[in-house]
Amino acid sequence: MGEFELIRRYFCTEALQPTRRDVYLGVGDDCALISVPQGRQLALSVDTSTAGVHFLPQACAHSIGWRALAVSLSDLAAMGAQPAWFTLALSLPEVDESWLAEFSRGMSDLAQRYGIALVGGDTTRGELSVTVQVQGYISPGTAWKRSGARPDDLIYVSGTLGDAAVGLKLAQQRLAADLPLPQAPPGQPDDVARQISQDEAFLLSRYLYPEPRFDLLSVLSSRASAAIDISDGLVADLKHLLTASNVGARIDVSRIPLSDAIRKLGDDKALSFALGGGDDYQLCFTVSPQRRLELEVSAEQSGIALYPIGVITRERGIHGLSSHEIQGYDHFKGAGR
Ligand code: ADP
Ligand code: MG
Repeated sequence: MGEFELIRRYFCTEALQPTRRDVYLGVGDDCALISVPQGRQLALSVDTSTAGVHFLPQACAHSIGWRALAVSLSDLAAMGAQPAWFTLALSLPEVDESWLAEFSRGMSDLAQRYGIALVGGDTTRGELSVTVQVQGYISPGTAWKRSGARPDDLIYVSGTLGDAAVGLKLAQQRLAADLPLPQAPPGQPDDVARQISQDEAFLLSRYLYPEPRFDLLSVLSSRASAAIDISDGLVADLKHLLTASNVGARIDVSRIPLSDAIRKLGDDKALSFALGGGDDYQLCFTVSPQRRLELEVSAEQSGIALYPIGVITRERGIHGLSSHEIQGYDHFKGAGR
């Protein structure tokens, strides 16, 4: 199959091109042509996922496609931007049609859910690698920049942490033992997911099928002062936010949300995964004390759980972590990415 036939069959599909009036010209020409809604800014972000570094090449192609798009989308969610379009640069060692069909389906599932269109890309031969550039829009002045946190702002996270890092470990153990990985997103258990414990299925799916948190957009809206998505671990990503804002933080580790599934590893271990493990794609954000109540009421009305874990301080650095906890965190440093 030639390059153009491959593009037509797997990437020029209806499922990847939900109808959008702002796409004047999509896949097929030298460029895509797009109209940005009047009075909005474009938000752009690109992420490369390399086999063996950012994803498990043995994972099913459905999860690889889903995950590559999800991690890019997460950057838009972390800025408060509305997702709209994406492009895909794909490098493939060989043309495997069943792999491509599943990969395309993984991306389509998310594209459909958010009504975002694949508008172009590039396909080459080489080691397996997936680059996704996402584009969205946002009203000028409303983005949650990393630099917006101020002393006394409260620090929140949007969900349990450490699950994906444990999920990755479990996935690696299964592969080493020649066992298959689940091949479907949460809520659609497949044969593998049905044969393992609920906890294991939950943790594996948190790694294989991350969810960009666009459901937070309306709750946080103008209320968050700064935000970042947690891709490399809470401590590492919070540090980026603190550095950009020129502030420090006091964290109450007893308030870091841990799932029942990872608590079963013991509190110390669970906490070190939560502090140092990446790949959760929850948001970490800050809110001024004046807007706290408003935020919590809005979250409650939307049925969204938010977890306050600390407060921004004038004094730089992260306080409240014991040396023991930092040791656990250091364990993840230089872990490959
Ligand atoms: P050019 O050589 O002009 O860059 P290509 O031959 O690379 O064009 O691609 C032809 C068309 O197919 C372009 O519109 C490009 O955006 C699109 N395309 C190529 N690869 C992909 C892909 N993996 N997914 C979506 N669109 C793609
Ligand atoms: Mg090209």
